[in-house]
Amino acid sequence: MTPLKKPTAAVVGAGPAGLATALALHQRGWDVGLYERYPEVKAAGNILNLWPTPQKALRALGVDTRDLGAPAFTQLRRHDGRIRAEFRMPAEVANEYNGGFIGLIRWGLYKRMMDALPEGVLQLSHKFNGFIDDGDSVQVDFEGREPVTVDLLIGADGIDSAVRKELWGDSPKRYHGLHLMGGWFLTDEPIGTRGVFAHDRTVQGSYTPIRHEGRNGYEWWVLEKWTPQAPFTQTDIRAYALERAGHFDEPLPSFIERTAPEHTHRWEIVDRVPMKQWSKGRTTLVGDAAHPTSPYAAYGAGMSIEDGYFLGRFLAGVAVADSAALTSALQAFEDHRKPHTSKVSQQAYVTGKIFHHVPAFIRPLRDFVFDHSAFLQKSQGDAVPSHIIKQLPSIEDAPPTAVR
Ligand SMILES: Cc1cc2nc3c(=O)[nH]c(=O)nc-3n(C[C@H](O)[C@H](O)[C@H](O)COP(=O)(O)OP(=O)(O)OC[C@H]3O[C@@H](n4cnc5c(N)ncnc54)[C@H](O)[C@@H]3O)c2cc1C
Repeated sequence: MTPLKKPTAAVVGAGPAGLATALALHQRGWDVGLYERYPEVKAAGNILNLWPTPQKALRALGVDTRDLGAPAFTQLRRHDGRIRAEFRMPAEVANEYNGGFIGLIRWGLYKRMMDALPEGVLQLSHKFNGFIDDGDSVQVDFEGREPVTVDLLIGADGIDSAVRKELWGDSPKRYHGLHLMGGWFLTDEPIGTRGVFAHDRTVQGSYTPIRHEGRNGYEWWVLEKWTPQAPFTQTDIRAYALERAGHFDEPLPSFIERTAPEHTHRWEIVDRVPMKQWSKGRTTLVGDAAHPTSPYAAYGAGMSIEDGYFLGRFLAGVAVADSAALTSALQAFEDHRKPHTSKVSQQAYVTGKIFHHVPAFIRPLRDFVFDHSAFLQKSQGDAVPSHIIKQLPSIEDAPPTAVR
């Protein structure tokens, strides 16, 4: 008897979305290639936090999440330390997921995901160049390489996705009028479990504990209004961050001071308006290619991992030779993911506006409400974790034999 041919997929981009998608499809019996443009997998940036839902998805995908990050029990505070709200999580979720909200270095996550990937899946130095969908298969072209022909193409190539552009045309980026400076350091001193997101009238200055390859540390970031695409002429990011947040409650200023300059980065904050449709024919999108999200959510990478997991679930058992069946599975996947991802992206955009873009004469009133009412507790401290962990039951438990 001829063995059944495995379904085949090309995933473009080896960030969190691509890695999770490749793991999910491989787990479901697909023959998958993960194509990255660079000669190595590069973590885009440094600092990262993960909520419980992506942690559960990682476990279900066979990724070792033991000691992946440091618990960060996080409060919203005023810059002088006054507590305004805290991100509350049910005790059982916090116990199961290492505190619930964890801090880590981005490379630590990538490394764990790559360790779970079978040999031969990752194809480096493959820059996506275009595709032709003839209805029965997709031919995927890479710069200077032989094309590959597969049953399914997945664009996991980030906010400037070439796959999305080819599928749906170009769309303008949405500049949030914000920029962020962030950094991290490791230490052998004991660290706490407290994370703080603090704001003065115009600047956010935040930190959380992190864990990386068995060592403790802290990550921090400073975020403020910034004219879209204005040149940033400062050479010393750390000195600039300190200038903007030096008046914040300790330990933030000390954390910034003790960070090595090479462990600091700066980003301008951009996303795109959520897309109405992701998939067409035999191609779909995951992660930032579909729903780029402001760091205000601390969840873009988390949602990218969830996308990969759910795509695997929706494709399980689909007869890929049947184009209608494949298209309808892709539609079901995106219909499941769009309400959640759009809500998170839009909320992160609006939160940035509220903290940094309200006119000066309204800021005292805004801050009075933040300081003296339950508004921030309800709208952030309770609503944000609750929306995220609502998805936990829809993710399968990892098999009992799997590493957690
Ligand atoms: C400052 C900052 C802080 C953040 N903090 C958090 C956080 O705390 N928690 C969180 O969950 N998220 C956070 N995010 C969001 C998170 O970084 C992104 O949502 C996440 O990286 C998206 O993953 P992705 O795999 O979709 O895309 P990317 O990470 O952008 O990966 C895309 C990959 O595709 C490759 N690629 C691109 N074009 C091609 C091509 N033509 N051919 C082949 N390969 C290609 C790229 O090289 C890259 O490897 C933060 C973002 C920023 C900027």
